[in-house]
Amino acid sequence: MSAYARRRSSGVLFLLIYPFQVSLIDVSTLRPSQRPSDTHGSLSWPWLAALLPLLMGGPLIYWQAERSLEHQAQDSLRRTLTEIEQIFDYADNATREVATLIGADCRSAELTLRERSMATPFVRSLNLVTDGDIYCTSLRGPIRSPEEYERYTQGRLRLMPGNLVTPDRPLLVFRRFTDKGSVLAGIDAQYLIDALQLGGHVVPLTLEIGDYRLDADGKTLSADATRPAPIAAVSSSRYPFSLQAAPPVNGFWQFLHTQFDLMLALLLLLCVMFGGGAHWLGQRRVSPLRELRRGLKHDEFVPYFQPFVDNARNRWQGVEVLMRWQHPREGLIPPDQFIPLAETSGLIAGMTHRLMTHVVEALKPHADQLPPDFHISFNITEAHCRDQQLLEYCRQFLASFPPGRVTLVMELTERGLLVPTRETNHLFSGLRHLGVRIAIDDFGTGNASLAYLRQFPFDYLKIDRSYVDMVGRDSVSRHLLDNILDLATRLQLGIVAEGIETPEQRDYLSQRGVRYLQGYLYARPMALEPLLATLGTPPTRASLPEHAPS
Ligand code: C2E
Ligand code: CA
Ligand code: CA
Repeated sequence: MSAYARRRSSGVLFLLIYPFQVSLIDVSTLRPSQRPSDTHGSLSWPWLAALLPLLMGGPLIYWQAERSLEHQAQDSLRRTLTEIEQIFDYADNATREVATLIGADCRSAELTLRERSMATPFVRSLNLVTDGDIYCTSLRGPIRSPEEYERYTQGRLRLMPGNLVTPDRPLLVFRRFTDKGSVLAGIDAQYLIDALQLGGHVVPLTLEIGDYRLDADGKTLSADATRPAPIAAVSSSRYPFSLQAAPPVNGFWQFLHTQFDLMLALLLLLCVMFGGGAHWLGQRRVSPLRELRRGLKHDEFVPYFQPFVDNARNRWQGVEVLMRWQHPREGLIPPDQFIPLAETSGLIAGMTHRLMTHVVEALKPHADQLPPDFHISFNITEAHCRDQQLLEYCRQFLASFPPGRVTLVMELTERGLLVPTRETNHLFSGLRHLGVRIAIDDFGTGNASLAYLRQFPFDYLKIDRSYVDMVGRDSVSRHLLDNILDLATRLQLGIVAEGIETPEQRDYLSQRGVRYLQGYLYARPMALEPLLATLGTPPTRASLPEHAPS
């Protein structure tokens, strides 16, 4: 089935449900694929909806990330504090055990000092001090070096960037003092560095003792050196040191990105889903009526032409103008899908006017090539007859062509029954006065009675193709068709038969004196270019597949 044919079948559905669409303008029943996105107001909503999860979830994730960061920092600080206090506890024990040796001869104390330092985890050396001088060390025995006790924080801890034994490695000195002097325990700062790294690398920790700081990379800095404000800190209640947690190395956003990547991805997915959902709903909300108005405003309704023949003279007699919607996204939409709504909404009159203007623009430059007394027929409905505007349209139309060059025909469909009033009488006599011919269209499908046919001055009767279809069928069908033909003859109306597809139908109708024939057998509805080519060829030679279906 072609796209065109598919649209036709869905048009039936449209016809069945369009009354609801008129009353509930916002409830569109058009297929989603038929709804253009360029209708007002629907563009910004998807973006707003897409932003919604971000606006609501963004601050929540930010707050959650801040809390998580703080929590991680506090946790690292607590664990590292305990670890470092334990290291100092060992030094505290070892210094207590050898404090009795203060003042003793170094030669006799040296071995005990060495044994103690070797037996104590983390402690590298033990040293004895009297009178402000270190006089004995577990590493080298007797020495003489100033203690510099004033450099110890609260007289207990000293962080040294390096020392004589390991000039490139920081050293922590733990000091215990008594009345007789003091004991110093050297602790390799690597243990402290390891402890600082315990909390991982997300939140870097630093150890601060007096004037110096030691960071997790093993660097010692002056406490005054500039640094980013810590996000959390903790001080030991047992030893004079504190720990500080610096902001994440690569910044908070990097932290957010690495730690909350799943939630961010979920948020992004929600944004897409909300945006997509709003877009889809927006598309659904597009009202067909609003869309029709938009199409009219953008002049999207264009004429197609279906030529018909004068069978008696075997020549092209004229064209029926059939409206098409040249939709920017959907392509060419057939009339059954929008004409019913255009009629009930009252837009049809304006659309016909535009259509007539288009036809003038298209055919006027070719007026000379048109066969003599060329009929141009337009479809009108009862809605066109409510005022006198049509008169003006017809006057303008006829004035655009040289006098007598074309015959304007209005095909009034029988589907909506017209009630004769003063207005309609005035309109019909006005049309007649202008020389406009009137045809009753779709004859046999509606409610037209004999009286109706007499009340309006019809010139032609157009037999609906459903009757033409009956040719060659059962005898009852043929009887119906014959009756309609008889009626038209008795009313002295010109007969046009539409929907002729087979030579059999053509022959049957010709034999019964039907003069004007229209149908795919001769030509399909077509655009201007093929129409001009078709009109240049005698009707008998026109063949079915020559022109692509509209
Ligand atoms: P209609 O006035 O009965 O027009 C004839 C329809 O039959 C056209 O369909 C035409 O393409 C189709 N047709 C012609 N020959 C054959 C054939 O041999 N076989 C078959 N199967 N179909 C044939 P189209 O163009 O889709 O128009 C459908 C209806 O839409 C028209 O029926 C008419 O009622 C309405 N319409 C079209 N243009 C206008 C317009 O400008 N104004 C108004 N008010 N209605 C229009
Ligand atoms: Ca028609
Ligand atoms: Ca018809």
